[in-house]
Amino acid sequence: MSDKQGMLIVVSGFSGVGKGTVVQLVFESLPNIQFSISCTTRKPRSGEENGVNYFFLSEEEFEQKIANDEFVEYTKTFTNYYGTLKSEIDKPLKQGVDVLLELNVVGARRIKEMYPDSVTVFITPPSIAALKARLIGRGSETQDSIERRLREIENESKDIEKYDYCVTNNIARTCADEIVNIIRSEHLKVSRQNLKNLFNE
Ligand code: 5GP
Repeated sequence: MSDKQGMLIVVSGFSGVGKGTVVQLVFESLPNIQFSISCTTRKPRSGEENGVNYFFLSEEEFEQKIANDEFVEYTKTFTNYYGTLKSEIDKPLKQGVDVLLELNVVGARRIKEMYPDSVTVFITPPSIAALKARLIGRGSETQDSIERRLREIENESKDIEKYDYCVTNNIARTCADEIVNIIRSEHLKVSRQNLKNLFNE
């Protein structure tokens, strides 16, 4: 077992910014990082697997986990619950393994309060106007859902300044490399290194 704690990396970004692709590329570069699999009550999208992308739960199952105090944080957006299980982060952290969490701004704020050493990264699009236009032009969503997402963008924008880092997803590979650099640099911080080992050996 490592005598060094793992690091928590929280990644957030507006809906439609391409977070999933960027995070996937980060894992390709840093395969030893563990992804925190969240619980959700939303239905799986095509290609999503239970226990891989999320733990897909019923509302009753989710509420039972709340009652059992199994979540480090959870949130309810419009109609669905999302939550991070304590078990997804505590064990790897103790073993010195880094954990990456993909959370909304509420979850990111909560994790930062509870784990001040965590590193928070917000992914923005090259232009908010383009993101909004894409959302409206997609044609697959109701007017209600588009308006809700636009409001969400406005609300989340106000929280960006609370993040440690902000990266732009212009080219996914470049954006992922920037996050990889952030993680590597954070590990080099004196406060994160066990320098006493240097003298004891
Ligand atoms: P989606 O339904 O598109 O997978 O996720 C919707 C939003 O919920 C995204 O912003 C995602 O980052 C966030 N999210 C996913 N899991 C969690 C979680 O465990 N806690 C919180 N607070 N947000 C989450």
